[in-house]
This record gives sequence, structure tokens and C-alpha cells, in this order.
Amino acid sequence: MTFKLDKAAQAFAEAKRYIPGGVNSPVRSFRGVGGTPPFIARANGSHIFDIDGNEYIDYVGSWGPMILGHAHPEVMAELRNAMERGTSYGAPTLLETELARMVTQAIPSIQLVRFVNSGTEATMSVLRLARAYTKRNKIVKFAGCYHGHHDSLLVKAGSGATTLGVPDSPGVPESIATNTITVEYNDVDGLTKLFEQQGQEIAAVIIEPVPGNMGLVLPQPGYLDKVRALTETYGALLIFDEVMSGFRVAYGGAQEAYNITPDLTCLGKVIGGGLPVGAYGGRRDIMELIAPAGPVYQAGTLSGNPLAMTAGIATLQLVTQDADFYEKITAKTTALCDGIQAKAKEFGFNYQFHQAGSMFGMFFSDKPVYDYESAKLSNAAAFNVYFHAMLEQGIYLAPSQFEAGFMSAAHTQEDINATIYASGKAFKKVAEYLAKK
Ligand SMILES: *Cc1c(COP(=O)(O)O)cnc(C)c1O
Repeated sequence: MTFKLDKAAQAFAEAKRYIPGGVNSPVRSFRGVGGTPPFIARANGSHIFDIDGNEYIDYVGSWGPMILGHAHPEVMAELRNAMERGTSYGAPTLLETELARMVTQAIPSIQLVRFVNSGTEATMSVLRLARAYTKRNKIVKFAGCYHGHHDSLLVKAGSGATTLGVPDSPGVPESIATNTITVEYNDVDGLTKLFEQQGQEIAAVIIEPVPGNMGLVLPQPGYLDKVRALTETYGALLIFDEVMSGFRVAYGGAQEAYNITPDLTCLGKVIGGGLPVGAYGGRRDIMELIAPAGPVYQAGTLSGNPLAMTAGIATLQLVTQDADFYEKITAKTTALCDGIQAKAKEFGFNYQFHQAGSMFGMFFSDKPVYDYESAKLSNAAAFNVYFHAMLEQGIYLAPSQFEAGFMSAAHTQEDINATIYASGKAFKKVAEYLAKK
């Protein structure tokens, strides 16, 4: 059977008549890799199915949330039950307290938590809080770290912005951007110097402790400790953006894995179990500044939505029911990465493989990748050849060199074997492409 996306091509053209670029989030458009994005009809477990009748093993997992795989029967059953009771009330429910309790137990640095509707909303709100608490204005972020699309943090933001080559968006006022200082990830000296010069003005440092939005990059040993120490010395708050790494790198997120206690944490993705959720939380004395406990305003018509809370609770319950959940999903991810790396080596490719729990990434580069600049040295054209060769063989990867991959509990050994086998064929095409150039 030959691989076709005829219906998708038609659907994409139709979508473009009504939606900018035909998509509701840029990287879905395949702009970076070229070609037509499959239009998805349904998903089950580790597999997704498109409207052209193609079936794929899915390593995107809706960009992170689907840690149990798609349409997990128990999550679906809970959602159906919840739906019978209505979809939104805009009034307190027991579900919100239940998920909040689970989050604070999983991540002890979070004493109080506020639920919102997206990761973007969480990081946006947490900056307001940090500025109010410290009575300072400047925010430090790291090149290639993505924290959502609001003005203050849409500076050298990795992810879709890098894929599309728009690192700094028009429409962000200079007056706002000047309060955002960008430094290189893993660069202790750069951050130290910045604090020596402007430490008294810095409200907070926001960081993806394990960056997954410039491809997957890992913190060098001791780096996060140094970031923690510097912020403490200068009275700035440390904000871990664990929207992606939370409940992924470990149940308690990167802060558990690396044993660091941030002041504030942002969450999203997995805690919504595939429904729209974000959250921010942290030290009680800081969080109590949030309205109505305190004067820092932040609200949301659909925040703490009963369906979203239900999906989050069910997901976290299922994850915690299995004492070996993280061990198993991490081992599967390692097996996948080792297998793909072995295939790459067969063709003489010394590509960089990174893994953190159930997140993984591969850079088409011979050189170590530890920050945004080194990530950008990857051969994106070679990745694109690999990506399309994988897609045609029924392997659905993120359509960009600068995104992470996600394993789910639903992926089987057969899935992994099939992916490794397909990788061999895909690397052969990469080798042919590079030889021709
Ligand atoms: C996905 C992501 C966000 C943004 O979350 P949305 O729900 O897409 O708004 C923020 N920070 C990180 C680290 C993310 O991976």
C-alpha cells in the first residue's frame, strides 16, 4: 500500500479558508518539514488514525499530555460519568480540591496551587505574582526555552518559533521585552555575571529545568543547583516551568529528579490528561498573594473545569496505581533510543540522543548539544528526510528537529521494534540524501 495524504491535502486547503495557516497552533502545520499534515480522525492507545486511512505509532502524544496513551478506557469512563453531571458550573467543586491535593503531594514545593486553562496562562500569571512578591520587574529566561506565547516570554522562545524562524514575534512591545533578559541555558558564568550586574532588579528566573522545546536538552551536573543558589543569594524567585517535565521526568517532575526546590512551579499537559489545563503553585506565603486570598488578580471562567479536573485526577490515579510506572516507561524509552541510535551508527551517524524519563530527543548533529546555539547546529534538512521517511512508514514524530518525543504507557514492545526497524530504513534515505548533496 502506498502512503497517501489526499484527503488531508483537501482538508488542509479547506481549513486554510477559515483558520490562519489552517491550524490552531503553528507547528502542526508541518511548515518546518514541508508537506501536508495528516488530519487525525481518532486515537487509541499508542496509535493514531488519520482521515486517509493511515495508522501511526504516535510519539507526539498531543505534545506531552497523553502519558497513558490515547482514550484510556478508565479515563474515558470517568469523563463520561462527569459529563452526565454537566460540563461547567463556574463554582467550587470537590474535584478541584482533589486534584490540588494530588499535585501538592506529588510536588512538595507546591503548597498552594491555582488551576488555569493552559501552560501559557500559568506562566503568564506566575510572572505577575513573582513581580508583585519581589516588587521588581525584570525576568530572566533562557534562549530556546518556551513558556507559552504571551508577550513577556516570547523572546528567543524555541519550539514552534524556532521551527518557523520567528524567534521574536512582531506585536510584542519593546517596553515589555526590555524587562525580559535572555541568557544561554547551561551557562553558569553568563548567569552569574548577569546577577552581579542586575541582581537587585531581577524578580524571577523562569526555566525549563529539562528543556524540551529546543529539542530535548539536559542540564549539566550541578547547573540547576547553581541557578537555585544564585536566585536565593539575590532574592529573586526561582520558577520551574514543568508544564512538560512535570509527571514526565519523574512523578514529582524535574525538581524531584534533580532534587531542587523552586519557589514556584508551572504545570500543564499531563495534569490535564488531554483536556485543557494549566496550573501554577508554590510556597504558601507567595501564593497567598493571589486573589481572593491577596491582591494579585487572576481569574478564569473555565478554570478548574470539572471535565479537565476529572481527566487529570483519573490520569494521576492510574499513574500512581502502578508502583513501577516510571521505571517501566523510562526503560521503554531507553530501549527505543538505544535501538534508533544503533541504527544511526550503522550508517555512520554520530547523532546526539537525549532522554529524561519518558521524554526523548535526537539531534542530527555530531557535536554535543547543551544549549540553543548548539541545538541549532543540527542538520534540519537531514531531519526532514528522516521525518517524512518515518511518517510514510507509520511512525508519527513531532514535525520538527526542535521538539521532544514522548513515550506512553500504552506503547508496546512491537511498537518499539517497528519504530527501530523503520528508523533503519529512514536513516538509509538520510544517507542517500547526504551523499547526493
Ligand atoms: C507546552 C508548554 C507551555 C505552554 O503550554 P500551553 O498549554 O501550550 O499554553 C509552557 N511551558 C512549557 C515548558 C511547555 O512545554
